[in-house]
Amino acid sequence: METKIGKEELLDEACSIIKQGGLVVFPTETVYGLGADAFNEEAVRSIFIAKERPQDNPLIVHLARLEDVEKIAVDVPPLFYALYEKYCPGPLTVILKKSKNIPYVVTAGRETVGVRFPSHPIARALIEGSSPIAAPSANLAKHVSPTLAIHAYEDLKGRVPLVLDGGECQVGIESTIIDLTGKTPTVLRPGAITLEELKEICGAENYKGELGVALAPGMKYKHYSPKCKCVMKDATELGNEYAEALKKGFNPVIIATEKTIKRLGDLRSLSLGESGLDAAKFFYLRLHQAEEEYDYIIIERMPETGVYYSVMNRAKKSAAD
Ligand code: AMP
Ligand code: MG
Repeated sequence: METKIGKEELLDEACSIIKQGGLVVFPTETVYGLGADAFNEEAVRSIFIAKERPQDNPLIVHLARLEDVEKIAVDVPPLFYALYEKYCPGPLTVILKKSKNIPYVVTAGRETVGVRFPSHPIARALIEGSSPIAAPSANLAKHVSPTLAIHAYEDLKGRVPLVLDGGECQVGIESTIIDLTGKTPTVLRPGAITLEELKEICGAENYKGELGVALAPGMKYKHYSPKCKCVMKDATELGNEYAEALKKGFNPVIIATEKTIKRLGDLRSLSLGESGLDAAKFFYLRLHQAEEEYDYIIIERMPETGVYYSVMNRAKKSAAD
């Protein structure tokens, strides 16, 4: 299969492909997505084949209009609407009870469904011009999520007909996932919307500030892995690890915050910028650059608060053996 890559000029064609049961790679503010019509079982099945994704890993349904939530979910609680008000469209996925309209292939057999309202204008136009879209990230299973169209293209060329290029993703890590189907609202995956922020809004909504954090599900699969060796070290150990790697004949690179890089002098390095939001935006981009040019990646261990906590969640999986 030939894979087309282009910008808005391919939008109409992309909408037709979705409506006919095909796959489209599209930009969102978090990472690029690999989408199909969420109501078309066969189309959704082909997402799993294209990215070699395990059948038991569910997808997220992407919507453009609030009223469509009732087509895909039932018993939607008030807290959903409070979260929608505050964060949507934006990098938040909410787990709700699924409606019968959504095929089980989307939810990997679960009675719950993940719902997200992306803010990227091309994502919104694609959904508005076709259908609610089920999508995971547009990378091969286990590989690093794409934040540039070219990264999705490199993983999926020959497997999908069309890649929509919407520029670099501004958030850069996957959405924060909050599950509202249990007793206590629970964060399943941290993202640019932080635990601290969610705690506040859950408290304001009379949940007594209670917010569960269950990060185990994301740990089930090897994830976000570059193609070469990748380790994580404290800022003070980076220079030593680098020297050791050189001695063993590797071509190492350090991925670290701007502040740390300034202290490292002229070791080869790639910057994660000056804030947690910068680190999120650049994290996958730097992993892609690093695996292209080097063969030994050393990631700086960052503080586990705010958005850095969410970046560390990805970094630990990238550096896991
Ligand atoms: P990806 O966008 O590639 O990270 O894939 C979507 C992710 O959303 C999955 O890996 C799950 O972690 C999460 N997800 C989607 N639907 C559900 C659900 N019903 N329950 C729990 N997690 C979900
Ligand atoms: Mg993914």
